[in-house]
Amino acid sequence: MNKLLIVGTVAFDAIETPFGKTDKILGGAATYIGLSASFFDVESAIVSVVGEDFPEEYVQVLKNKNIDLSGLEVVKGGKTFFWSGRYHNDLNSRDTLDTQLNTLADFQPKVPENFKNADVVMLGNLHPLVQSSVLDQMTETPKLVVLDTMNFWMDCALPELMEVIKRIDVITINDEEARQLSGEYSLVKAAAKIQAMGPKYVVIKKGEHGALLFHDKEVFFAPALPLEEVFDPTGAGDTFAGGFSGFIAQSKNVSFDNLKNAVIFGSNMASFCVEKFGTQRMEELTKDEVSNRLQQFRALTQFDISLQS
Ligand code: AMP
Repeated sequence: MNKLLIVGTVAFDAIETPFGKTDKILGGAATYIGLSASFFDVESAIVSVVGEDFPEEYVQVLKNKNIDLSGLEVVKGGKTFFWSGRYHNDLNSRDTLDTQLNTLADFQPKVPENFKNADVVMLGNLHPLVQSSVLDQMTETPKLVVLDTMNFWMDCALPELMEVIKRIDVITINDEEARQLSGEYSLVKAAAKIQAMGPKYVVIKKGEHGALLFHDKEVFFAPALPLEEVFDPTGAGDTFAGGFSGFIAQSKNVSFDNLKNAVIFGSNMASFCVEKFGTQRMEELTKDEVSNRLQQFRALTQFDISLQS
């Protein structure tokens, strides 16, 4: 089976949306990526760190999805990364209320021996030095390296972020972060500037307004599925990344046309994540639901107009 290596936070989140509030629940970029990628025919592993306070039942959630956790370090006496956020009424924007790095502050990632030749590496959101260190440990050049990041790292580790961005193939980033990273308001100009920093492909996520894929002068757009119920957008970006990288790892095809399909698969997975708080929806999701919704995606975007010359 093809291999997907996932790096990112495994975390405690406390979330507030207009529909309710949670105490510390399971969260983290790698958690959402792993849950999402588990719907594809790939062998995946998470490299991350947690503290001794991380409950066994949360470890079990990931193990139940057959994710290899030999690269998940548990620090004795340490505390798990904690993030808390509050969403605005439109659910498209949020304020970070608290970020506690805890064990992540001096984490030295160790890639499991049997994943040093992974086909796809998904560098989920965490410190860019950790992302770089994972790439340093690969013994074979991956077919595709995808990186996700956020404004937090642009604010506190920009030089390190710029270094790792030089080494990747695809960056996934939201519109606000693309503007911050490039200094350009136009997303077309922002994508061009970001491509000049290293990645051949730039995916700009626009929440409920879909996602754009840029490559040279080409652009592809995938809408987000209009949903009846949106409770909590936390992890939608990571779930997108898990669907995107999981599909590429499964198909091992890194052509632009296949990356377009990956954007659709990513958007499809993300549409489920937002329907319940935290990881709940992704935990109970079935393969049938995933494929049924893919049909809805096709119906939403397909049209047949004959273009006359
Ligand atoms: P998303 O909604 O896709 O941006 O991802 C939210 C997830 O990212 C939450 O589960 C958080 O635990 C995690 N997260 C929040 N801030 C950071 C950060 N600075 N670095 C890494 N992961 C983070």
